[in-house]
Amino acid sequence: MMRYGCERVTAKIVGMTFCTAVLLCPSIGCQSPGSPTDTDPMVAVNTLIEAPDDYAARRVGTDAYPIPTYAKFLKGVKICLNPGHGGDADQRGFKRGPTGVREAEMNLRVAQYLREFLVACDADVILTREDDSLLSYEERATIANDWGADLFVSLHHNAIDNKPEVNYTTVWYHGEVSYRPSNLDLARYLCDGLYDALALPKITDVPLKSDHLMYKNGFAVLRHAEVTAALCESSFFTHPAEEQRLRQPEYNLREAYGLFVGLARYAAAGLPRAKLIAQAGEAIEPLNQMEKQAETRSGEAVMVPPMPNDATVVFELDDGLRNRKAWGHDRNMILADSIVVRVNGRRAPHRFYDNGSRYLLSVELPVGSEPGEHKIELQFQNMNKISVLNPFFTVDVR
Ligand SMILES: [Zn+2]
Repeated sequence: MMRYGCERVTAKIVGMTFCTAVLLCPSIGCQSPGSPTDTDPMVAVNTLIEAPDDYAARRVGTDAYPIPTYAKFLKGVKICLNPGHGGDADQRGFKRGPTGVREAEMNLRVAQYLREFLVACDADVILTREDDSLLSYEERATIANDWGADLFVSLHHNAIDNKPEVNYTTVWYHGEVSYRPSNLDLARYLCDGLYDALALPKITDVPLKSDHLMYKNGFAVLRHAEVTAALCESSFFTHPAEEQRLRQPEYNLREAYGLFVGLARYAAAGLPRAKLIAQAGEAIEPLNQMEKQAETRSGEAVMVPPMPNDATVVFELDDGLRNRKAWGHDRNMILADSIVVRVNGRRAPHRFYDNGSRYLLSVELPVGSEPGEHKIELQFQNMNKISVLNPFFTVDVR
């Protein structure tokens, strides 16, 4: 079984009770461990309005749900969708709206509809659950991590005690804003997509929220994520009218479309990546090639990267844009001042090279670095101010 109740004991709950990934029992009280789990009388009182299996597929690309041209940049992007909750209807107090509509069901249907849009654009998509099954938060994150997802999106709807009038969108990121800035990129694009699609009449003035507002260590599902991740609380199912909208396949589809457009805009802005290509002391062919290219390039002086020595590691950077080969692709599209390197948590000097076809970054390890593993964090942004998807590396100093 899961950690129901346990995390809530230590949770810092600020005035209201949200439906979050780690808070499964908001308004009705936690079930004490070991208590009988007889069927909740609210089960099947009210549920989603049924729709044909191909309901979403038949609407993808229609006038109501057009595929924007820029959605082509979703091709090959690996997206793990995590519909929150599931398998909990035998628990007293499972998450539901005032008339019994289950959050687990609406989350799953939105995820399935979102997948229809994404696969239509050749994104690679997996769901953490395909039915009403129960997974732990860690299991959900592990699915995304092991698959090597580029993006991990948790889909939820929100709840609040005794305030049925509340209904707005929030999107949650893990920890501090500087922890993994790409989480904020993902969260912002998802939030903007939801704004456009749902057009809820009210907003909260800062809709991107840190999960540290809810728990000292954040949401388990985000804490365990080793890839760019965000958690959507698209709207409140405790709002009576919103609960009834959330039963409807058309409304679920509209929400999914908003998330899709958000993801498409994000991908279009370019998803930067970094790759470790030489550990300390390793000779690497790319540097030799780059040196030759630099020598033959006419016109302005071009910096030539040094051969790595025992204290140098080399990364290749990808701005997420240059490979499109658009006019001007040989110009630098990485904001040089956005590059920050930390070795074992401390700022470290680096040198950035661009020869018009590839970017290299050399990092000098601190003098006297002990043999063994060292943690390197490498942050940078492309010209659209989109941050590198994975900034964390481990290098082995021998
Ligand atoms: Zn939830």
